[in-house]
Amino acid sequence: MQILDGLVVSQATKDELRLKVGQLTAAGKKVPHLAAVLVGSNGASETYVGSKVKTCEEIGYKSTLLRFPEDISEFKLLSAIQDLNNDPDIDGILVQLPLPKHISEAKVIETIDPSKDVDGFHPESAGKLVQGLPTFVSATPHGIMLMLEHYKIDTKGKHAVVIGRSNIVGRPMSILLSANTNPGNCTVTLCHSQTHNLKEICLQADIIVAALGRPEFVKADMVKEGAVVIDVGITRVPDASKKRGYSIKGDVDFANVSPKCSYITPVPGGVGPMTIAALMANTYRACMERN
Ligand code: NAD
Repeated sequence: MQILDGLVVSQATKDELRLKVGQLTAAGKKVPHLAAVLVGSNGASETYVGSKVKTCEEIGYKSTLLRFPEDISEFKLLSAIQDLNNDPDIDGILVQLPLPKHISEAKVIETIDPSKDVDGFHPESAGKLVQGLPTFVSATPHGIMLMLEHYKIDTKGKHAVVIGRSNIVGRPMSILLSANTNPGNCTVTLCHSQTHNLKEICLQADIIVAALGRPEFVKADMVKEGAVVIDVGITRVPDASKKRGYSIKGDVDFANVSPKCSYITPVPGGVGPMTIAALMANTYRACMERN
């Protein structure tokens, strides 16, 4: 069993980007500028946005963090996004989800200029992805593809089972794995909360991508010997033994599943860092295409 080390692979991606940013600076050109929008003070969202801003600093990007109170009106938030759309210095816009209930996430996502949609959530980006056209690919599935590529994992003709059909992870993951690309060319089964016989389907999988947000849901008796297991899940589980009061759990029962796998991602240190690296790669691309 080999660990797919997201820290190592994401570092390689970030190092490459830092080098490119150095070249831009040396040539007197504009460096990528990411704007992050955070509404309210959800602990997990604060952590995610904090890591994204910190990574911008590490690489040499500019970043702007816009914070808004939990009770901001939808109208005001949409206006703020329009301002970012109109600001020529901003290359990428990310709005940290989830948003408060009174704000339509769909409207917010649709308001982002597709040329700055570095999260790849806009319907235009999602549509292009389905048609195999160049576009911003949602950072988590994009990061997973970078990881599969880095470890030269043979995906051609393999059966990939993706658990979860969200617009952010599961659905784009299924599209990418089924595309005529390398990595890709899988036969994909997309499972969700209404899937019957999930265990039997998983047992047929050469590759499992677990993205359902249920801690340790994927058990050893659901996994075939030699399978590649990608664990997207991040759930905070109360844990009195930790100073912060919780521990982070993935969607896979790592201790019991890992001995059966050829490759597996840990949580933390697997998909999470790759998501940030992919977001940074998308932001670099947005900057290049806009300038
Ligand atoms: P979501 O809640 O939007 O979607 C979950 C999906 O899982 C749904 O499509 C649902 O049908 C499916 N599902 C739920 N229960 C199921 C069950 N019992 N059997 C089969 N399918 C079931 O979640 P999401 O935004 O896609 O995120 C999924 C997980 O990934 C969460 O833990 C989230 O925190 C994590 N996540 C991690 C990263 C990262 O960078 N590592 C990025 C995004 C999301």
